[in-house]
Amino acid sequence: MDKQSVIIVGGGISGLYAASLLGELYEVTILEASDRFGGRILDLKREGFSSILKYGAEFIHGEADLTFSLLKEAGISYREVNGTTYRARKGELLRSEMMIEGWDGLLEAMSQIERDMTLVEFLNTHFKHPECKELRAETIRYAEGYDTADPDRISVKALYKEWSEEDRTYQISPGYGVLAAYLIERCVKLGVQLHADCCVRNINWDGELCEVRTAMQTYSAHKVLVTVPLARLTDTDENTKLSFFPPLNDYKKAAGDIGFGAAIKIFASFSTPIWPKDAAFLFSDQAIQTWWTQLPYTSNILTGWAGGNYAKELSKLPEQELKQVALRSLAGTLGMSEARVKSHLQAMAIANWEQHKWIYGAYSYPTPRTTSARRLLNTPVADKIYFAGEALSNEFSGTVEAALLSAKAMVTQMITSLRSA
Ligand SMILES: Cc1cc2nc3c(=O)[nH]c(=O)nc-3n(C[C@H](O)[C@H](O)[C@H](O)COP(=O)(O)OP(=O)(O)OC[C@H]3O[C@@H](n4cnc5c(N)ncnc54)[C@H](O)[C@@H]3O)c2cc1C
Repeated sequence: MDKQSVIIVGGGISGLYAASLLGELYEVTILEASDRFGGRILDLKREGFSSILKYGAEFIHGEADLTFSLLKEAGISYREVNGTTYRARKGELLRSEMMIEGWDGLLEAMSQIERDMTLVEFLNTHFKHPECKELRAETIRYAEGYDTADPDRISVKALYKEWSEEDRTYQISPGYGVLAAYLIERCVKLGVQLHADCCVRNINWDGELCEVRTAMQTYSAHKVLVTVPLARLTDTDENTKLSFFPPLNDYKKAAGDIGFGAAIKIFASFSTPIWPKDAAFLFSDQAIQTWWTQLPYTSNILTGWAGGNYAKELSKLPEQELKQVALRSLAGTLGMSEARVKSHLQAMAIANWEQHKWIYGAYSYPTPRTTSARRLLNTPVADKIYFAGEALSNEFSGTVEAALLSAKAMVTQMITSLRSA
């Protein structure tokens, strides 16, 4: 009997991992819209920088067991991020492990809510007194920055789960790109067809075989696994949207019930480190509030980060203006003049994911409606259309681990269905 066939739409880490699991048993094709594979994993060598820049995913957060086991299998090493956290206050950098003044009381109150709600609703209910103004502002800033979230949408129960877990952080020196490269190699060995520059416009699942159309060609397969970013699923622009026939309006609506935030990364290379040698993270109240070094690896590069609604606004600025904002913020954070920072600056680069043609944002975050949205999106349509990707994992949100877990879960469902066909 001929092998059953599967088309995977999207060649990010979830698509690549799914293909590497399915490739042994089935005829697998990956159709990727951009000219390369890896999606939000993108490591680039840029002029003026002594090491690779991690434009997208960079850290391994917490106990990401599947990521660790794949890294082990691929022989890729990683190291825990050590070093000290600093906070800039009144032009001075001070060591400070406490993210937010009143953090313990905040977590305690979060742990006690029964009905899920958004962060803004929670703060307005439980921390409404004028003396909590600072705590409210800092909590919102943190959720925006770290989770790229809209505070009017993000789920407090999800935030509590994330913030209350001990989160050790690890770095892969050359970046996650080496993991994507390993999976690509595994796919090639298994005979998976990898097609770049193939943006899928329509998926027709009406007949016995699904028809997957790009501008140039129609492909057919027994099953289709869609791994595009959330913003591509909710896209309604006639020129760019991904259409299904028969339409999958409730699935698209469910995708809109999961948040999808913006982020900007700024890379700055210096002739010499102008920050405390033991610094891992620097937080400040400047426009770009978060900066980090490459510890435990030695490097003269600082990475700046803006997330959430503020990053969405910043993303509209011309690159030169963005660099100016970053420079001013860094000077304010380090308590130095702009001229002094500039005198050591060798190069700057910006990763602006909001403007990325195929991604339109950074990563997902849960809203109070996300659990039921994920339940639907994790239910295959007529055993033909499946969805996977970082936004659909029930265990993590917005990480490489989430993308891998989601792919694995969907592949398990698909194999069960293909075996019984
Ligand atoms: C700035 C930034 C920093 C991050 N930092 C971290 C971090 O430190 N640690 C961490 O674990 N995670 C991090 N992440 C998140 C992590 O990168 C993602 O969760 C993960 O890479 C998502 O993988 P995916 O396969 O689900 O989606 P993607 O990587 O987005 O893959 C989907 C693919 O679908 C393609 N596509 C879109 N439309 C179509 C179409 N119509 N037809 C065909 N193909 C299409 C896209 O081009 C893309 O390649 C970060 C992300 C960003 C943007």
